[in-house]
Formats: sequence, C-alpha cells, structure tokens
Amino acid sequence: MCLKDFAKSLPHPVKQGLYYVYGSTSPRFRYGKVFWQTYNFLQESQWWSREKLEEYQMQQLEKLLRHAYENVPYYRRVFDERGLKLKDIQDFDDLKKLPYLTKEIVRENLPDLMARNYPKSKVRHVTTGGSTGIPLGFYHEKGASEAKERAFIITLWHRVNFKMDDRCVVLRGNVVHSANKGKFWEYDPLNKNLVLSSYHMTNETFPKYIAKIRESRPDFIQAYPSAITILARFMKKNNIEPFSSVKALLCGSENLYSCQRELLEEVFQCKVYSWYGHSEQAALAGECEKSTYYHIQPEYGIVELINKDGNPATNEDELGEIVASGVSNFVCPFIRYRTGDLAIPSNGKCECGRNYPLLKRVEGRLQEFIVANDGSLIALGPAIFGIHDTEWTKVKQIQFLQEIPGESVIKVVKGSSCSDAETAAYVLRLFKARFAGRCKLDVKFVDHIPRTKSGKFRFLVQKLPIEFGRKK
Ligand SMILES: [Zn+2]
Repeated sequence: MCLKDFAKSLPHPVKQGLYYVYGSTSPRFRYGKVFWQTYNFLQESQWWSREKLEEYQMQQLEKLLRHAYENVPYYRRVFDERGLKLKDIQDFDDLKKLPYLTKEIVRENLPDLMARNYPKSKVRHVTTGGSTGIPLGFYHEKGASEAKERAFIITLWHRVNFKMDDRCVVLRGNVVHSANKGKFWEYDPLNKNLVLSSYHMTNETFPKYIAKIRESRPDFIQAYPSAITILARFMKKNNIEPFSSVKALLCGSENLYSCQRELLEEVFQCKVYSWYGHSEQAALAGECEKSTYYHIQPEYGIVELINKDGNPATNEDELGEIVASGVSNFVCPFIRYRTGDLAIPSNGKCECGRNYPLLKRVEGRLQEFIVANDGSLIALGPAIFGIHDTEWTKVKQIQFLQEIPGESVIKVVKGSSCSDAETAAYVLRLFKARFAGRCKLDVKFVDHIPRTKSGKFRFLVQKLPIEFGRKK
C-alpha cells in the first residue's frame, strides 16, 4: 500500500486543540501533554497549605514579572517610566507599585503586550465580547492556553463528581448549523456532548429540546445561567419533570444570582455548581462540594479585591473589584488587570479542607449596574431575576438600555393581548420598588431582542462608562 492510500485508510482525524486524534475517544489520548501536566499538578496543589500556595504563587509571580520585563515592551515601559527594577517587587504588597491594566490600555497597546520571544505560529488572537459590547482582543498561547484551562475547569467540576467520560448537554451559546432546518442540536462524539442551540429556544421549540435532553440521558448540563434559567421557567410553568440522570448543572461565564439558583435547584432537583472565570485567564474561582463560596485558584492567578477608595477590600461584606494577575499566560500577560467584576471577600476557611482564599459572592459585572440620579449604582441582575415567575405573565422579554445617568429605557417584547398602556404600567410596577426616586424608567415596545454574538441574553445595554472607585 502506498503512503497516500494508507493515509486515506485512516479514520478522519479530529482536531482537539493542537492535537489530531485518530478515532480515539478516550480522554487519555484526546488531551495532550500540557493538559495532563496541569491536571496532575492541580490534583495535588488543591490540598496544599496556605503557606505552600503563597510560596508557589510568589515563584510564579517572579517568573512572570521577569518575563514581562524582558520580553513584553508594554511592561518594560511601565517599569522604566517608574524607575522600577525587578528587585523592587519582593512580595504581593509590592505589586501595588505597578499600575492597573485596564481594558482601554489593552485595546490601545495590544501589539506591545505581546511577548517578543514567542513565534507567531505559537500565538492565537482571541476576542471576547465583553459586557460593554465593545470587543476586547488579546492573545493566547496556541493549544496550551486551552489545554490548561480545560485542566482547571475539569478539576473544578470534579468537586461535583464530574468524570472525564461523562455525558453532557451543553447550552453555552454555541451555533448549531442545522438549527435553521429544525434540528436544534448536534452531537460532539469526542467530548460526548449534546450541543444545543441557544438561539432557537422559544415556547414552541422547548418541548423538542426537552425531549432530546431526556433521550440523551446526560450526566451533567453545562450552561450559561441566563439560558438555562429560560428553560427552567418554561419547565416550571408547564410542570415538567426534571431529568433524572442529571447530577448537577455546571454554570459559568455569567453571574449566577441566588434567585436563579433557587429556581434551577427547584426545577432540576440537583446541585447547581457555579464558577467565575473569563477569557483573559487572569482569575478563576469555583464553588466546592461543601459551600457556595467561590474558592480562588492561586495556581491560576493572583487576585486582589480593590474597594471604592482604591484600597484592598479585606473586611467581610466589603465590595471590591476583582483585579487579577494571571500567572499562566506568558504570550500576553495580564498583570493587575481590572476585570470590572465585583465581589465580596470572606475571611473564613471552608470545611472542604482546601486552603484557597474565598469569595462570599460575585456580585456581577460593573456593566450590569444602572447608574442612579445621585451617581450610585443599582445592581440590575437581582432586580430582574428576583421577580417571581408567576409575575412574568404579560411580557416575553425585556432589556434595559441606559444612556443617561438616572434614566433608563426598558425594551419590552409583549407576551399577551393587553394594551400597550396596560403592559407598560405592569412593567413599571415590577421595578418600582427598586428604582423609585433613583432612576426614571420608560417603556418602549419592540418585536424582538437579539442575543449577543456569543449567544448570551443581555438584560442591560449600558452605554455609560462605569468606574468603580478611583483609578490608581
Ligand atoms: Zn470548600
């Protein structure tokens, strides 16, 4: 047999990150070296003492800073302009000598944020939609960034008994090409995932989605909280039985509000597991088997919580912005990156035995807040998700739009045959308690509210620049 015929005789190769796998569906073969190194490391490090974790973090930070100083023009400039040398940063407190990295700085300095010692072939340009709607572009290390991320996420999911060969239903904004022809899912045999379209969920199509999920007997459902909440509302309204095979819902990439969690637990009758992360790969935190506090992963990044005054938010119940330095992305380092996400710390220790720092709650993205007439911020997520299901009778969908402080327009897709005036009065009544005297609300009727490019349901289009506290 000639080489060409031999090549043809092989099964069709499937690309998984950098690795082409011939017909293998075993995780041992389908994930590469970087994945297994990271994964095996995490199985040990998650039980390290606080001291050992900090020692490890400091070593990683030194490595990152040396690399950034020597190979990344933007950081060389940052050091030089301040007359700083590497030896000036000896502990985590010294990190404060470096300025914050904002999304604007990333946008304006992207070429200078790329490390010079990586060949172009090792670099992948990625973009994230971001809640502001303005995309943010940066770089990952081809293959490696994704493999590390997968190792971290699978380690988090192990906390709710996820195993690598478990079957999943995925509802995370994927585009399903056959959906326009009425088939709203596709099967990914490599990962044993049934991928559902997030763009075609309506009262008419839900029964098909539900029948398909039931038929596939998934062990877990991976979902954006906003998408799975819509499915849950439909199931609750129609008294639909939960899926008995599902052990937990794996919710990430969006904030999960407590009222959403309650609804999901009630409808699906299983654990709802949530984690916090972002494509910039600077911070990662996940719940555990024992509590709903987010355990910050020190092996992933160094997290500071900065309060309104620009100081560390260390007290219980003190709100702070997550400022993170990722220690694994050397292609495009994010050091002291202002994520725009707010969280509340906890100084306690979790009974699961891990010594990770804890976040009591992630309060959401700054861009999910409404600016009141006195400049204060109103969290919109709890206002929307806190409305009881039985109250959502006259509207199909809503979305807030804010362009002026103290004023907001609520776009509404009508759900019943009420008159416009009746529906408008009804919607305003829903939000009256939270907004009265702080923000003027107007209702505007629309036929359709499109989802974002990544398939998320955006409940607020915030056009105002929102800053939390002083810039330092
Ligand atoms: Zn724990």
